[in-house]
Amino acid sequence: MTGSPPTIADALQAVRARIADAAEACGRAPGEITLVAVSKTHPAAAVEAALAEGQLCFGENRVQEADGKFTPLRQHHPGMRLHLIGGLQTNKAEHAVRIADTIESLDRPRLADALHAAAERTGRLPRLLVQVNIGDEPQKSGIATAAADDFIAACRRRFGPALAGLMCIPPAGEDAARHFTMLAQMRARHGLELLSMGMSSDYELAIRHGATHVRIGSAIFGAR
Ligand SMILES: *Cc1c(COP(=O)(O)O)cnc(C)c1O
Repeated sequence: MTGSPPTIADALQAVRARIADAAEACGRAPGEITLVAVSKTHPAAAVEAALAEGQLCFGENRVQEADGKFTPLRQHHPGMRLHLIGGLQTNKAEHAVRIADTIESLDRPRLADALHAAAERTGRLPRLLVQVNIGDEPQKSGIATAAADDFIAACRRRFGPALAGLMCIPPAGEDAARHFTMLAQMRARHGLELLSMGMSSDYELAIRHGATHVRIGSAIFGAR
């Protein structure tokens, strides 16, 4: 043991191996699961280190920060994909629509209105995931579970196939499996394709419960 932290390349390879193992252990193909490397707060150099390992899909939680970091990199890496995963203010909707490939934090009717208007203005509509406040925590973003079915159906009518799935962050310190199961059932009820759940501490469990996207930050890039 040298005590030095693993490089981003090493950490990324380890996470990929664990994703593949978790998938195979439950009879899923590793290719069914997309790793979203969450680079928020880390510099562009960290993103470049991951790109050098062939990582193309990244997650950021602030529109401004994402734009500053990704717009220059994209010129050299046209295959890069940006997922916006943070709470989104309506006044940032147009900026988000311009730069994101996927917005994972659609969580209220006013934001749906703002994204719809922004899509009409820009002619661009990213893929959208509804964020569900699966533990109904007062401080957390996401649509309340009791309102989720109606909201998902309304978004599906409005956005068509661009409304592609669901996202959640289960309550810390609680049984995540129960919450992952609930989100998977909701996804099935609505016939949606994508299920974004699982972070550094619980992504293998999320894969067992059907995650198609895992959002992993600190296990790749280190502590924030
Ligand atoms: C920061 C963040 C992550 C990544 O969290 P880690 O624990 O660092 O893997 C995933 N999802 C969302 C919504 C986040 O804000």
